[in-house]
Amino acid sequence: MGEKIKKKVKTIKIDLEKCNGCRACEVICSAFHASPKYSSNNPARSRVRMIRDPIKDIYVPVYAGEYAPAECMGRDVYVIDGKEYGECDFCRAVCPSRDRFKEPDSGLPLKCDMCEGEEEPLCVKWCITDALTCEEREEEVEEEEKPADMDIALESLVEKHGLEKIADAVARMSKKG
Ligand code: SF4
Ligand code: SF4
Repeated sequence: MGEKIKKKVKTIKIDLEKCNGCRACEVICSAFHASPKYSSNNPARSRVRMIRDPIKDIYVPVYAGEYAPAECMGRDVYVIDGKEYGECDFCRAVCPSRDRFKEPDSGLPLKCDMCEGEEEPLCVKWCITDALTCEEREEEVEEEEKPADMDIALESLVEKHGLEKIADAVARMSKKG
């Protein structure tokens, strides 16, 4: 068993009734994570994506979660207040079955980092309807070793292009250096 440590946990509460689908959350998230910061914005690079169907009055902000190397074998349909939501609408996984939460140029997985370094998540700050609100609490958890972001990125590249191609590319790059 690992050691117990105190951890600050931020929760973003999403009120679907208040979301009007303006996509300000996508804009600020992609701008904050642009390189250099705020140099561009492209919702395809955002770590929060809007599932929108204005005809059915459906607006669901979904946050990028864990990388999943394989697609799951099941699908869920939610019916809430008479509105039917799509099979993968609430799912946060970066999964091979779709393009959501993948960096459009490289295909690398994106993950919400709660705007590391910022006092408050920027999507929450920019949501003028208060569909997004943030709460913080302290929890005692067991220390666990998580794979580094670099490992996850490499795993997804190998998944996409195959180990041989990645090894070739690295060998070419090291020769250039
Ligand atoms: S908390 Fe920050 S990183 Fe996460 S989706 Fe919102 S703006 Fe993006
Ligand atoms: S900024 Fe708020 S209201 Fe606008 S799409 Fe995002 S969650 Fe919805």
